[in-house]
Amino acid sequence: MQNDSDFKRNENKQNKDGNQPNNSNNKKILLGVLAFALVSTFLLNILMTSFSGSNMLEIKYSDFITLLEKDAVKNVEIQNDRLIINTDVSKIDLPEAMNRFNKTSEMVFYTGLVGDTELVKTMKEHNVKFSRKVTNSSPVIDFFTSWIMPILFLYIAFSLIMHFAAKKLGGGGLMGVGKSNAKVYMQKETGVTFKDVAGQEEAKESLQEIIDFLHNPDKYIKIGAKQPKGALLVGPPGTGKTLLAKAVAGEANVTFMSLSGSDFVEMFVGVGASRVRDLFKQASENAPCIIFIDEIDAIGKKRDGSMNSNDEREQTLNQLLSEMDGFDSSKAIVILAATNRPDVLDKALLRPGRFDRRIIVEKPDLTGREDILKVHSKDVVLGDDVDLHAMALATSGAAGADLANMVNEAALRAVRMGREKVLQEDLMEAVEVIIAGKEKKDRILSPKEKRIVAFHEVGHALASALQKNSQPVQKITIVPRTMGALGYTMQMPEEEKYLMTKDEMISEITVLLAGRTAEEIVFEIATTGAANDIERATKMARSMVSQYGMSDKFDMMALENTENKYLDGRNVSLCGENTVAKLDEEVLNIIRSCHKRAEELLVKNREALDKIAEYLYEKETITGEQFMEILKEVRGEDEEL
Ligand code: ADP
Ligand code: ZN
Ligand code: MG
Repeated sequence: MQNDSDFKRNENKQNKDGNQPNNSNNKKILLGVLAFALVSTFLLNILMTSFSGSNMLEIKYSDFITLLEKDAVKNVEIQNDRLIINTDVSKIDLPEAMNRFNKTSEMVFYTGLVGDTELVKTMKEHNVKFSRKVTNSSPVIDFFTSWIMPILFLYIAFSLIMHFAAKKLGGGGLMGVGKSNAKVYMQKETGVTFKDVAGQEEAKESLQEIIDFLHNPDKYIKIGAKQPKGALLVGPPGTGKTLLAKAVAGEANVTFMSLSGSDFVEMFVGVGASRVRDLFKQASENAPCIIFIDEIDAIGKKRDGSMNSNDEREQTLNQLLSEMDGFDSSKAIVILAATNRPDVLDKALLRPGRFDRRIIVEKPDLTGREDILKVHSKDVVLGDDVDLHAMALATSGAAGADLANMVNEAALRAVRMGREKVLQEDLMEAVEVIIAGKEKKDRILSPKEKRIVAFHEVGHALASALQKNSQPVQKITIVPRTMGALGYTMQMPEEEKYLMTKDEMISEITVLLAGRTAEEIVFEIATTGAANDIERATKMARSMVSQYGMSDKFDMMALENTENKYLDGRNVSLCGENTVAKLDEEVLNIIRSCHKRAEELLVKNREALDKIAEYLYEKETITGEQFMEILKEVRGEDEEL
């Protein structure tokens, strides 16, 4: 395995920013108490009626008539829905009733009312006393208890259920429908300035004008210049888009209101739209301010009118567009949005007067990384040997968030080691942890496996050292890591590169394939350990042919397009089936020739391969210098590499 230049991001959600959700909790608590009181009175009522009814037995109406005819009934009380029947025990022979009542002198039954027009007559005939209580409640109270109360009860119960369900889903609940205030994070002062954002100079420059406008809107209005309404921050995750938006608010000294695009998307149609309305209303009350919509792609996707188009999302987007067009331009409100999928955004969002400014927030280059490391190690006690430049070199492809994370990991490691300062080894170990995961000390490879891994890794390292165009080896290790690598070879570029030549790509593919090739040469086996190498080599070979015009067969023809390049970067084919087949063939050719090249290199240097692998097997980790020493020893000092 080789070190991955694509850093896996450890998304560390930071809530330390002191964001205060400004929601109306008090109202909710009040409602909750009210609902609780109502529910408990209802429950109590139900309980009491069922208790009082427990010494009565329900009988069939026909049984009641039988009792009547046997003169067993003493008196009857007619109620709204039932008859309460007092009987004379001595005249009853219902066995079920006997069991239950243990023969008290009187027994009470009840039965439902049947539209029996003869009832009064029959009761009179058998000398039964009957009566109906006069209810002294007014029709108003009746109406209240029989209509309003149940409806109120149902409403409250329902909304409570919805509230908790929605809370579980991360929403604001039915009570909060149409209210964005549960979601808007408002900060009067972000406390973040451009000083906290390292690198990203171009982005800062573009944002400077917005800051100036917020500082001094009159200057712009006087001259008749239209204010910049919105800017879109575009770039991969973790590059500091949110941080920049906050810094703009901090620099301009205005309120920062933020909301994530996914917060708008709710299960009820219309909710998102009303949230947008609320948001803008709130903003105009808090002007001057910045509205920051994170992950705007969640609502701003192209309205393609396809089958599964989402009505709710479209409504929300339309509302956002019309609010952006409509809001009072003399009010100092600027809308910033961030996305890492600019390609999916609806064109309407990018029209003039909306997010017409696009600010690219790229992954940092070498200097940028060094600066970010400096910002984040400002409050960390560093040892004298710390070389942030070297660390920046080793972290090509890392975003700001990764670097911040690494510095913290290093500090934690220093604490674990009982040191008071962070040393370079802490920092470099942190780099490895982020790339390959933590060392997995408890995972024990069998000696046989360990040997295979050792040869595999030295295969990579040798292929790298023996080719002109590749990067020097920094470290080789066969200590397994938590992210699945059984070992890896870490390479470190001498300088940042923006372009890769065809030769360099061929060299790199050869290095990737050399791991498995070493296994083949030494053990005459193939193992599963090379899967990641193979995947990356294939990807690289494919892009050479399909995107970089580096094959003779297709010359400079583009066969594939990269979609979504700030995230996983899926490739989309641009050509017909026949061509795809030929493309595959061409990719295979490249892989084959690189495989052969790796084989030649390793066979020719078999002695070095054996020696270094045995040494690695014994030591488990060796440095680039140790590696080069043995290699030079075997090959002889003067031999050109
Ligand atoms: P994004 O919004 O682009 O995904 P964030 O702004 O949330 O990225 O960045 C996450 C964290 O990474 C920040 O809080 C900060 O600690 C760190 N970070 C990212 N970029 C930079 C940078 N250019 N300078 C300093 N810190 C950065
Ligand atoms: Zn490998
Ligand atoms: Mg963000």
